[in-house]
Amino acid sequence: MRVYTKELTLSTKKRVEVIKITDYVNQVVRESEINEGVVVIYAPHATVAIIINEFEPRLTEDYVGWIMRHIPPNAGWRHDEIDDNAYAHIASAIIGPSKAVPLSKGHLLLGTWQDVMLLELDGPRHLRKVVVQVIGD
Ligand code: ZN
Repeated sequence: MRVYTKELTLSTKKRVEVIKITDYVNQVVRESEINEGVVVIYAPHATVAIIINEFEPRLTEDYVGWIMRHIPPNAGWRHDEIDDNAYAHIASAIIGPSKAVPLSKGHLLLGTWQDVMLLELDGPRHLRKVVVQVIGD
């Protein structure tokens, strides 16, 4: 078994933003020369999330809309007394900072309408990181 790990650093431009990172993940998979296994996509941050679904502009607005409707900012969250971003922490905690995708014959087993996305919840930020780890043979 081999493990290949690479880190992407990116800047986000908005408070809440959906950024497609599928191409980057595929590039890391190619570099790894690992064909069978699993790929973990992980963001080491408390106010971002990783999602896998369709990257369609109206739908990306809907992901954000769902969060704002169900976890509204400034809704009296205790953590807002400290740094005013409790909703971002809660959404990150619920949605999660990582996803795993099976790797077979050198390709991610993503469906036709699935992309890997970074969900920025408390931007804009410099130095957002995404770790891609390919594990297998
Ligand atoms: Zn905070």
